[in-house]
Amino acid sequence: MNLAQKDLKYIWHPCSQMKDYEDLAPIVIDHAKGLYLYDTNGKKYADVVSSWWCNLLGHCNKRINKAVKQQLNKLEHVIFANFSHKSAIELCERLVKKLPKGLTKVFFTDNGSSAIEAAMKMSFQYHYQTGNPQKKKFMALTNAYHGETVGALSVGGVDLYSKIFKPLLLDIIRIDGPDCYRCKYNKSMDKCNAECFESAEKYFKEYGNNTSAFIVEPIIQAAAGMKIYSPVYLKKLRKCCDKYNVHLIADEIAVGYGRTGKMFACNHADITPDIMCLGKGLTGGYLPMALTVTNDKIYNAFYADYNEGKAFVHSHTYCGNPLACSAAVEVLNILDDEQILSKAKENAIYFNKLLKDTFADHKYIGDIRNIGLINALEIVEDKKNKISFDSKKRTGYKIYKEALKMGLLLRPIGDVMYFNPPLTIKKSEISSVVKICKQAINNILK
Ligand SMILES: *Cc1c(COP(=O)(O)O)cnc(C)c1O
Repeated sequence: MNLAQKDLKYIWHPCSQMKDYEDLAPIVIDHAKGLYLYDTNGKKYADVVSSWWCNLLGHCNKRINKAVKQQLNKLEHVIFANFSHKSAIELCERLVKKLPKGLTKVFFTDNGSSAIEAAMKMSFQYHYQTGNPQKKKFMALTNAYHGETVGALSVGGVDLYSKIFKPLLLDIIRIDGPDCYRCKYNKSMDKCNAECFESAEKYFKEYGNNTSAFIVEPIIQAAAGMKIYSPVYLKKLRKCCDKYNVHLIADEIAVGYGRTGKMFACNHADITPDIMCLGKGLTGGYLPMALTVTNDKIYNAFYADYNEGKAFVHSHTYCGNPLACSAAVEVLNILDDEQILSKAKENAIYFNKLLKDTFADHKYIGDIRNIGLINALEIVEDKKNKISFDSKKRTGYKIYKEALKMGLLLRPIGDVMYFNPPLTIKKSEISSVVKICKQAINNILK
């Protein structure tokens, strides 16, 4: 039995139809460096999806390796109730300085979905103990993605993940989100005034007083297919949340840490959410950790004598893990010392221009969208009418398999091919992956 066969004997892979592995066996990776993964046969793959969007500064980064090794030799883990350690303290001190003004308190979890669950419970309990127990509802957008645990799945709005589980899920106030490629108002994003926010306004009028929080992925609905929308939408949302005493929860798990060209996506709209969730790139993609960050006002509503029963009684065994914290501190060091964001900005312009030059006239590329180093190509059957291929054709999946043969890991969302590479990707790597991408698309669509 080879390694892939052995894998399939024992392992149930995430987010996969396991039967698909019959003709695409798991690729067993041996090692990685920078943009590239190397399998056990020595074949290399350009990881332009940052291994599910978490690898921020390239694989096997020398500095992060060193930081984690140093931590490993001192302290691998410690209970985080009543105990603390230097790496966690340093991380929070450094991070608070970078966060939108007013976010001051950091709560630790060990994956993104858990950070969302913590945010929802935190918001709910805040209202409960500040005289608004009627604020029980959550608002979220169509096509939102916030993770896979039951609470996080409830606020998510992608049927692929949640449809079967509807009977188990919370009853969410679902608001029609922005859809800039197929804008109902026939506006372009750079000129619009987020007219589509009017549907949210209606729901605020009706349900605002009973709503605890509005959760949103700022600037990009990533799992929806890298749908980018105007910062004006977020500005309007911030105002509306204030008016109705509804918390604004910004899920920056995918879009934080420079992915959109700014440190946080909320920076584009110059807003501070009441609660922000971070994950993925937080540890450079090294170790599972996530954060739920909030302000003094929310924190203080939990601060009381023990017997008042106001504490936030929520925990995860591995929260505040020192190894993860040491990686996260080094990520911040690297972002600062190596001026990663300003260098990435230049490459982002190059990347987007190259994609436009390559695909603007392509028969089947309906939309090319980009912000920061995130670039997406939406493949459509009918470009004029923006009509997608029948999803049963699995066009995106076929292109994915084709690109893999050519050494490119381009895991699409439906028929949206996207690039979300490490911020350290080089110009030469960009041109090479665009070339392979074009070849793969043309081989499948002829
Ligand atoms: C990935 C993701 C999550 C969930 O994080 P996990 O670590 O996979 O649980 C939540 N929200 C967004 C926007 C994400 O991209």
